[in-house]
Amino acid sequence: MSGPAPRVRFAPSPTGYFHVGSARTALFNWLVARQMGGTFVLRIEDTDAERNREEWLDGIITALDWLGMAPDEGPYRQSMRTARYDEAIDALWAAGHLYACGCTGDEVQARNAANGIKTPGYDNHCRDLGLGRGEGRALRFRTPDEGTVVVDDQVRGQVEFPCSAMDDFVVVKGSGAPLFALANVVDDIDMAITHIIRGEDLLPTTPKQILLWRALAATGWQVAMGGGPVGDLPVFAHLPMLVNEARKKLSKRKDPVAVELYRDQGYLPEPFVNYLGLLGWSPPDGNETFTMDHMVEAFALGDVNNSPAFFDVAKLTHMNGEYLRSLGSEAFIAAAQPWLHGDAVPWSEEAFDEAVFARMAPLVQERVAILSEVPGMVDFLFLDEAPMDEADWTKVLIADTEADAILQAAHDAYAGTTEWTAARLHEITLQVAETAGKKLGKAQAPIRVAITGRKVGPPLFEALEVLGKEKTLARLKSALDSVGVHQAEDRTESG
Ligand code: GLU
Ligand code: ZN
Repeated sequence: MSGPAPRVRFAPSPTGYFHVGSARTALFNWLVARQMGGTFVLRIEDTDAERNREEWLDGIITALDWLGMAPDEGPYRQSMRTARYDEAIDALWAAGHLYACGCTGDEVQARNAANGIKTPGYDNHCRDLGLGRGEGRALRFRTPDEGTVVVDDQVRGQVEFPCSAMDDFVVVKGSGAPLFALANVVDDIDMAITHIIRGEDLLPTTPKQILLWRALAATGWQVAMGGGPVGDLPVFAHLPMLVNEARKKLSKRKDPVAVELYRDQGYLPEPFVNYLGLLGWSPPDGNETFTMDHMVEAFALGDVNNSPAFFDVAKLTHMNGEYLRSLGSEAFIAAAQPWLHGDAVPWSEEAFDEAVFARMAPLVQERVAILSEVPGMVDFLFLDEAPMDEADWTKVLIADTEADAILQAAHDAYAGTTEWTAARLHEITLQVAETAGKKLGKAQAPIRVAITGRKVGPPLFEALEVLGKEKTLARLKSALDSVGVHQAEDRTESG
């Protein structure tokens, strides 16, 4: 592509966990920067001291790193730039774009009600009162009475905002602090931003920001980075919002929206960004599995869809599983490491055996969608006794009155073999099943629960082979004992 290298920005407010919608916004900005040799700027919009926390800022930076989208420039912080906002306010005031307003919200509302105006909005009451700069409760921007502001948007097309429907909006609070719209524009101008790519929720603010941009340009404002007068309006792209299954906007409280949550559950950054890329965009070739590099090549802002994008956790999880299965065994083992060590694992560090895990790894890899499922697939190998999933034990071992016969038969048959291989154990278990008049799957269930603690897990015979004869027999024995105790108790209770 031709033209000067773009400067894009990702401008989160550090008021909570890193939202998947923000991650998608960051990605689309990052892609534009990468595909045109541009600069990806990180700007922290931390003017709301009450809602900002330093740890949320750390969260943003680590999440961007994790996703492979570390900024080229920044983080800049709005909280460090107040002097610059003051200069902008001075310039706009001096040029007559601002006026002081002394009204309270209640006063405006009461006047509107008296005039039969139902739509809330400012009635320009103080516009021509000539209040001094310090005499009001806020500074408002004098919007044109006529004309239309057109937002030429890469995603939404030409969106028209008639000035008649636009309030004289507040840009400076009584405290002298600038509101979001102003600080945001001053930054975009000063940081020589060429493309504003952000969520659709900000589209209604855009015409105001265009007015501010033009007003500031007319004051002879000099761009902080690179110098010179204010440039043309940037390219705008407002990205479709993300919705949940009910097609409602993703809720911070009800939906799993924190990127941190996915990272901690063992989603990997590659499938995660792949999935983010599909939220509002799809590659022209229709192939939904792709790398960052491919996205950089194929992405175009103009191809972004304007309808809400369904954030489908099941699809994301499926893609993560596919990605895990596509890894070589060694890469899978390496990726699983954080889930095999540390405080959260159910076994003691000394009991863990890397070589034993490596034997099971290819089977585990076929069966997990996220890495946090790995410990539950192999814990039976590193715990002294079989783990116990209450529900599975009750259902498969206690409620089934024929389970103990199977366990006993398997125990005796396994005890009699010297060839401890998955293939041989398969044959033996088949015989046990036949003798009991059961299908192999049915006969396997109680054995599996006795050995691994759960109904689902890695393939049984490989699991037995890796666990070894001695432990297998001991677990069958101990399951038989506890089933016996339970059934005796049940008889006493019902008798
Ligand atoms: N700080 C704003 C937010 O977190 C985004 C501003 C922008 O991208 O222009 O919603
Ligand atoms: Zn007023």
